[in-house]
Amino acid sequence: MITTHPFNDDKLREECGVFGVAGAIDAAAMVALGLHALQHRGQEAAGISSFDGTTFHDHKALGLVAGNFDSEEIMRLLKGEWAIGHVRYATTGETALRNVQPLYAELASGGFAIAHNGNISNAVKLRHDLVRSGSIFQSTSDTETIIHLVATSRYRTLLDKFIDALKQVEGAYSLICLTEMGMIACRDPLGIRPLVMGRIGPEDGGTVIFASETVALDIVGAEFVRSVEPGELVVVSGGEIRSHRPFQQKASRPCIFEHVYFSRPDSIVDGSSVYTVRKAIGGQLAIESPVDVDLVIPVPDSGTPAAIGYAQQSGLPFELGIIRSHYVGRTFIQPGDGVRHLGVKLKHNANRPLVTGKKLVLIDDSIVRGTTSLKIVQMMRDAGAAEVHMRIASPPTMHSCFYGVNTPERSKLLAAQKSIEEMRQFIQADSLAFVSINGLYRALGEASREEEAPRYCDACFTGDYPTPLTDLSEREQPNQLMLLAERVGG
Ligand code: SF4
Repeated sequence: MITTHPFNDDKLREECGVFGVAGAIDAAAMVALGLHALQHRGQEAAGISSFDGTTFHDHKALGLVAGNFDSEEIMRLLKGEWAIGHVRYATTGETALRNVQPLYAELASGGFAIAHNGNISNAVKLRHDLVRSGSIFQSTSDTETIIHLVATSRYRTLLDKFIDALKQVEGAYSLICLTEMGMIACRDPLGIRPLVMGRIGPEDGGTVIFASETVALDIVGAEFVRSVEPGELVVVSGGEIRSHRPFQQKASRPCIFEHVYFSRPDSIVDGSSVYTVRKAIGGQLAIESPVDVDLVIPVPDSGTPAAIGYAQQSGLPFELGIIRSHYVGRTFIQPGDGVRHLGVKLKHNANRPLVTGKKLVLIDDSIVRGTTSLKIVQMMRDAGAAEVHMRIASPPTMHSCFYGVNTPERSKLLAAQKSIEEMRQFIQADSLAFVSINGLYRALGEASREEEAPRYCDACFTGDYPTPLTDLSEREQPNQLMLLAERVGG
């Protein structure tokens, strides 16, 4: 079920982060640290599964990593030198607990725990077929279809069964699985969601780490080895690391929004520093859409690197005209309707002495519904700004994501419903401009977007989805879109 946050309902939400440790004395504690560094990828639930050579252990709960894994008692229960973990963005409430990952199943080959970042775009169809042939699902998560496909595969070894299962799924998956024979990390053939590999200690006999982002390697002191390649399965077992490439080779299409917003700016994604790319996007924006103002102001925190780039390119002063409170947690009690409109000020407040009487350009990473942009523009006017212009460090978000990002349906996406001039009127800015799609590609080091073979998945801007959307195209099932929107992804 898609939820919105009362104080920041104008962002796309990354749904998950994954982390795995193969071969360390305090594996579960390291996973807790790694998940902490990935907390921005999902704040509503967290879980860890470990394996001690005989038995699997797990702890999963709604809430933040720090609250769930701060007890010595819980950490003592998560025994073993192998562990995987997951953070997710999902609905709240008791019914959601069954969807919190890692999911675990007893297969014929033994225990199997799985942590998934992404979304299977034919999961509704697969689930329907599996249920008809007798599978009993425990959750509403698309990830569980992979478990049932593994369980029902006719192949002999667990690895072959797993590959057989993955060949039937479409969409986006970066997976870390914990089994009795070792750990498997893999990325879908297009590499839509990120996954990296790191190491602590010697190449031979050290600890192997897998993570959604390099920032999580940093926090446990691991060295970045490489990305798990699109379509690659990396198996860590018996002191060896083996790479398998069972899928037909395809040109990769990693998610371009990781660079715009999802990943932490101190991560390296697809070989590029996220911070550097965001600054370059701001520079492109300044080239494409200059404006005669006194100050460049970031909408913190996500607009900050692009605002620095805009200021450096334009030669205008960069100032912190909006101050963000870091103490507004996602668990803050939701206020009643009477004061809900004040919520934005809990998170953002105008730096009044700086902005009064000034012409401003505000830089933000994206506009989804437009509600927060409207409140921020109003806030700057209330603080006495003479002019408020808005520049956005991504093209208009016009399409929903079906690859693991919590996007509202198209009817709620402002850019899908309005022209840029109508959007400007809606947010009440003096002017509004977005970076062009080619400008975004230029910031990533490409000459422009190759229309025939784009380097990235950019479907939320272009509608050019890189995989079939089987569940959506089953026209005889008119409620598919609703089912997809309500399904709890990973
Ligand atoms: Fe990323 Fe957008 Fe593609 Fe989703 S649709 S994977 S958010 S680029």
